[in-house]
Amino acid sequence: MAHDHILLLAGTHEARQLARALSKTFPETRLTASFAGAVSDLPDLGIPTRVGGFGGIDGLRAYLEAEAVTIMVDATHPFAAQMSRNAAAATRLTQVPLLRLDRPGWTVETDDTWQSLDTLSDAASALPTGARVFLSVGRKDIGLFTHRTDLFGLARMIEPPSEPLPPHWQLILARPPQAVEEELSLMETHRITHLVTKNSGGTRAFAKIAAARRLSLPVFMISRPDLPKAETAGSVDEMIALVKGHLSPVAD
Ligand code: NAP
Repeated sequence: MAHDHILLLAGTHEARQLARALSKTFPETRLTASFAGAVSDLPDLGIPTRVGGFGGIDGLRAYLEAEAVTIMVDATHPFAAQMSRNAAAATRLTQVPLLRLDRPGWTVETDDTWQSLDTLSDAASALPTGARVFLSVGRKDIGLFTHRTDLFGLARMIEPPSEPLPPHWQLILARPPQAVEEELSLMETHRITHLVTKNSGGTRAFAKIAAARRLSLPVFMISRPDLPKAETAGSVDEMIALVKGHLSPVAD
C-alpha cells in the first residue's frame, strides 16, 4: 500500500485542473489542497482542502511532519512569492520533494508598448500625470496607487480594498472576464490610456492584454518575482508526469 501524501498549494486555475487530474490519475494517493483563504468564494477542488496560512516556515514544516506529506506541489499564483519561498524552505528542512507548476508568463509582441517594471510602486511612480489607468491589481496592492489623485483609476479586484479609493475613481468587484470584447468595452467606456498589470500569465486573465493590444495602449507590466529553485512543470500534464516520478513504488 503506497503511503504518499501530496500537499497541493492552490489558488490558481491550474491548481484546480491539477487537483482533478491528480485524483483521477492517482486515485489511491492521499491528496490535500491548501488555500490562503483570501477570497470568500473558494472553488470546490473535489479533494480534501484546508484553508489559511500555515504560520510561516516553521508552521509549514510542522504541518508537513504532522500530516506525513511526501510530495509538495506549489501551484500558487506566480506573485504569491512568500508562500513559494516558505514552501522551498520547509521542504528543504524536511527533505520533502518540491514540485512547482509555473505557467508561462505573457510575452511582448512587436507592436506592443510594454514597459517592464520590477514593482507596482515603480508603476505608480512612472504613470504620467493625468493618465486614465486600468489598475488590474489586487486589494492588498491598490493602496500603492491611491496617492496619485491626479490619475483616474479603474480598479478591478475580487474582494473590496480595506481603504477607500479616491472619490473620482471607479471600483469593480469581479473576477476578470474571459472575453476580449468585454475588456475592450470597459476600456473604451472609461477612456483608459494605460494598463497596469502583473505578468501573471495563463489564459484566465489574458483578455485585458489582448484588449490593450487592440487599442495600442501602453502597458506597465510588472515582472515576476524571483523564486527559489524547484523542479518545475509548465503545464498540468507535465506536472502529472513529474509527480509520477516521485511517488513511492507500490508493493506487489
Ligand atoms: P503570499 O504573499 O505569497 O502569501 C502570504 C501568506 O499567505 C503566506 O505566507 C501564507 O501564510 C499564506 N498563503 C498564501 N498562499 C497559501 C496557500 N495556498 N495555502 C496556505 N496559505 C497560503 O501570497 P498572497 O498574499 O496570497 O498573494 C500575493 C500576490 O499573489 C497578490 O498579488 C495576489 O493578488 C496574488 N494571488 C495570490 C493567490 C493565492 O492563492 N495565494 C491567488 C491569486 C493571486 P503563512 O506564512 O501563514 O503560511
